Amino acid sequence: MPLLFGLAACSQTPPPAREAGGNVPLAGSYVDLSHDYAEDSIFWPTAEGFRLEKVSDGINEKGYYYAANNFSGAEHGGTHLDAPIHFAQGHASVDQVPLSQLIGPAVVVDVSAKAASNADYQVSVDDLTAWEKANGPIDQTMMVLFRTDFSKRWPDAATYMGTTERGDAAVAKLHFPGIAPGAARWLADRKVKAIGIDTASIDYGQRTGRCMGSISLRSRTWRISISCRRRAPRCSRCR
Ligand SMILES: [Zn+2]
Repeated sequence: MPLLFGLAACSQTPPPAREAGGNVPLAGSYVDLSHDYAEDSIFWPTAEGFRLEKVSDGINEKGYYYAANNFSGAEHGGTHLDAPIHFAQGHASVDQVPLSQLIGPAVVVDVSAKAASNADYQVSVDDLTAWEKANGPIDQTMMVLFRTDFSKRWPDAATYMGTTERGDAAVAKLHFPGIAPGAARWLADRKVKAIGIDTASIDYGQRTGRCMGSISLRSRTWRISISCRRRAPRCSRCR
């Protein structure tokens, strides 16, 4: 069962004019970046995996076809969003994130070349300012997605997470790219709508101590962990 995330994809056309009230009508196409949940979906080493229990799949006693399942699993697994409350007590839970913050234009900052040679790569402020220099300013109307291409390794936990081990001891063996604290503060200062990445966390796998996710989430930014089924668009600005 997919958790869908759509974004307006690449367009070479100029950005559409704003409507009264500041809303931007979306142009372009929508890209589904989600994986289906399955038994091989990757979860944090200490989290419960995904389980599917078939309730019915056939002609029932009343003579008609009926399909239904039960499912369970940790909420932070696969393609999902983290609400601000994940690291900020008293802040919005998923149901309290306004719809206006869940829909909008996205930009893609491609760090896949750096991540290919360094599983512990952390997106830097330099990556963000370089993107702005080439494409224009990042502002509070935008979602910012980071492309590492670790999504191509899904669902191979050994290369996607750095380890196939489970339990507390496995956390120290995690290796995947994330966002450096300085870059997170930069994004929080810009008050972007959301940030997303195609790895298991916005903190890189070797992060210890206090997660920098709390820095960005305190600004009411929500975040998404995208394990892209398809590659995020190559173009750097998507509307
Ligand atoms: Zn999460």
